[in-house]
Amino acid sequence: MTDRPPRPPRAEPREIVELRQIKVEQPELATAVDMQLALVDMQRRVQSRVPLPWIQVDPEWMRTQQAAGRPLVRFKDIPLEWSDFRLTFRQTADILQRFEALERSDHQKIVAMGRDGNALEPLVTSWYDATSGVSGTNPRRRADSDAPASLDHVLVLALRPFLARSAEALMQKVDLSGWTHGHCPCCGWEPEFAVITPTADRRLICGRCVAQWRFATLACPFCLNDDRALITSFATRDGRYRVSACDVCRRYLKAYDARRATRPLMVAVDTIATLPLDAAAMQRGYNG
Ligand SMILES: [Zn+2]
Ligand SMILES: [Zn+2]
Repeated sequence: MTDRPPRPPRAEPREIVELRQIKVEQPELATAVDMQLALVDMQRRVQSRVPLPWIQVDPEWMRTQQAAGRPLVRFKDIPLEWSDFRLTFRQTADILQRFEALERSDHQKIVAMGRDGNALEPLVTSWYDATSGVSGTNPRRRADSDAPASLDHVLVLALRPFLARSAEALMQKVDLSGWTHGHCPCCGWEPEFAVITPTADRRLICGRCVAQWRFATLACPFCLNDDRALITSFATRDGRYRVSACDVCRRYLKAYDARRATRPLMVAVDTIATLPLDAAAMQRGYNG
């Protein structure tokens, strides 16, 4: 009989390790970290089941869309399996509620929506069409005003593992370097974070599909104000993270400064590590 060495434990994904590390360094963020760990774990499991879709793009249509500032992922390009989506939708709402990021009454309404397959499918389809602007509608529109306030939040998180696959497939095929808008070239949503690259470019990261695109370093992606005198910026003491805030529309965006970093950007980690910066920005009267 040979003694086989014990199998080493499966290595945890880097973002899980980094999230746990935040808890050690900033214990006041423990609850936010735990919620993020639950969301990341769920989204990773879903995404591992979602195939990379084959997206058929007509080059002429694509050029027209890009020239008009319209994104490229149509709802039919999302590899959405409805029973899997319903489960993800429900689990997302449960996690948010468990960490008190969702009101109990909203949670009940949202779970009821998820149960009613006949209602959920048209709701998600029309929400995506309206909020992406692929067909030319104003992408700043959000869920119907009589819907629970947090429905947008749940939809964004639940759709992400599916939509991110479409963005991934598209970015492998399409050159997005000509895109100069503040909204996402794939799904039309707003940026949630940014990264300053070692060559001092700024890339924005979509808050819905995690696509990245280049954007002017000193302009506001929300209202396109590019008057440097009306952009306020500040950084963490170690210079790893920055905020740039707009004095016209009063919105701000956080960034990871890769020039001062030892690892690449990890959106799921860096959005949580920078929660104190959100507090600082809001204290100065800016909105996320
Ligand atoms: Zn997007
Ligand atoms: Zn602005």
